[in-house]
Amino acid sequence: MKRTPKATFPQRSYRRVRVESESFNLVLAKVNGTIRGDLEALRIERAEVRKVFDRIISYCDRLESVLIDSVDQGQKIPRRERIRWALVNIAHREFSRMFDPLIDSLKAESFGVAVMVLRDKADATERIVDSWKASVVPPADQLFKARRLLIIPDPLNGGHIGVQFLWDVLHRIIELDDLRRIRRCSGFHGDQPIYLLRIKIQRQERYFCSDQCRSRYNYNKEGQGEKQHGRQHSRKAKR
Ligand SMILES: [Zn+2]
Repeated sequence: MKRTPKATFPQRSYRRVRVESESFNLVLAKVNGTIRGDLEALRIERAEVRKVFDRIISYCDRLESVLIDSVDQGQKIPRRERIRWALVNIAHREFSRMFDPLIDSLKAESFGVAVMVLRDKADATERIVDSWKASVVPPADQLFKARRLLIIPDPLNGGHIGVQFLWDVLHRIIELDDLRRIRRCSGFHGDQPIYLLRIKIQRQERYFCSDQCRSRYNYNKEGQGEKQHGRQHSRKAKR
């Protein structure tokens, strides 16, 4: 597999601050089932989110494959046609469809929303109010600026836990600076797939949720390699 070439592929703007998404990681923990609480109640929604993550991953892979390799789902495309192909057949047609499973579930629900006008930034973990001191006049934008409108499913008005979860997932997705950061772990997780949020966006052969998971994968692969090729000492030699 060709890796993403740095100069010829749309790159992330490094001038824009990347949201280090704690909140996305919380969503992932729920989807992956690595956090306690609510998992059983969110069983159906979690399955839908996994479906959407898989669609996002295949959308990103397909676009990269066309733009970089000039191949779409096994079909070779003339190199001069690859950009038009990518834009028309993938970027245009597939983008909004990726999110359909979540949007359809939300459409099927009826719920009220809670509305709040907030002074704090979207990614603020600390409230601006907490930084105020009686001896210092705060900057004008802390006193005279309303920063965002928060609209969320109202827990008191039909916005039950599944609706809030899907709503939250969609908002975390739009906060992401690059959808290629979402990946599925190539390690061994039985029939429970594990998704991860990586920092880099360059293509790799495999992605892992942790170093431990990567080592376990490589260790097992090496074991198989020994059987196939009869390399008796390779594992020993590496130590
Ligand atoms: Zn893993």
